[in-house]
Amino acid sequence: MSGLYLDANATEPLRPEARAALLESLDLCGNPSSVHAAGRAARALLERARAALARLAPGEAVFTSGGTEANALALHALGQGRRVLVGATEHAAVRAAAPEAALLPVHADGTLALEALEAALRTGPPALVCAMAANNETGVRHPMGEIAALCAAHGALLHVDAVQAAREGPLPAADSLALSAHKLGGPPGAGALVLRPGLPCPALIPGGGQERGRRGGTEPLPALAGFGAVIGLPYDAARLARLRDAIEEGVRALAPEAIIAGAGAPRLPNTSLIILPGLPAETQVIALDLAGVRVSAGAACSSGKVARSAVLEAMGFGAEAGCGIRVSLPWNAPEDAPDRFLAAWREMRARLSSRRGLRAT
Ligand code: PLP
Repeated sequence: MSGLYLDANATEPLRPEARAALLESLDLCGNPSSVHAAGRAARALLERARAALARLAPGEAVFTSGGTEANALALHALGQGRRVLVGATEHAAVRAAAPEAALLPVHADGTLALEALEAALRTGPPALVCAMAANNETGVRHPMGEIAALCAAHGALLHVDAVQAAREGPLPAADSLALSAHKLGGPPGAGALVLRPGLPCPALIPGGGQERGRRGGTEPLPALAGFGAVIGLPYDAARLARLRDAIEEGVRALAPEAIIAGAGAPRLPNTSLIILPGLPAETQVIALDLAGVRVSAGAACSSGKVARSAVLEAMGFGAEAGCGIRVSLPWNAPEDAPDRFLAAWREMRARLSSRRGLRAT
């Protein structure tokens, strides 16, 4: 597709290595559960993907359909008999799977409030804490080392949604990690929950005993082959951070009223959430799309609705929470991405501001 794609946090463009592995797997017709030679070949491919995943996240992997299911399985498996504590900026996949959970506040920069976590852990029965390694809208990273230490000190289990953080390699220590192939440049339709060995994992989707009884259903070999192929591929975080910083510098120079959410916190190198107060996010997204620039209004899952970002609201924003667009550079972002984005953004801001009677200098 033509245009400038800056929506990697919704889905990364497919990596060539994933495409090759996926296409190759289409020639296999066996079911990994069959005992004959074709089934064994399919099983070997599945186990190759599992071995690749173990290099990124050691533990017991349960393959799932993606990050949403991996998070739901974690809450199903580990939440039983525990109080569930969930960060206020967690993805809807976690929030929806734990509707009764107590919310843990974040600071204005989007990082988890450790003092509130500690206070919550100090009282009550053993907890399951859900803290994402990096936020999908702002890119803000929570202090995972400190969170893990607090959980360990208070006998709590820690589930980490690592869906957005896994591109860069080493992942935080946790009792369970959720991953998704299409956020890494793999195909959609595959993901994993990686559990610390020994933890129970009753199936959320029971069935024919696949994944050692932890997840029923014939494994989607093409998607899993593509998933395995993207694990450990080089990811040039420094280059993406340079491009992202150039975008943010340009935004600040062009628009003194613009706010970059979470700018002071450690963040993913590819992500910037840019707020233009007074200009609805959806309108900005559509105007940029017409100019050939593909970004999102906060989480992709909420696009299509004119809504305020729950992430920005949790960070203390008011009306501005409906005025933020997420720019997320893909692994193959072109070098001229900042210039092209800023040209379209400047034009969009001028046009929408004058239409709404706002001053755009
Ligand atoms: N967790 C986070 C942080 C995400 O960004 C997403 C997708 O946007 C998910 C979970 C859900 O992953 P999937 O699309 O693979 O179901």
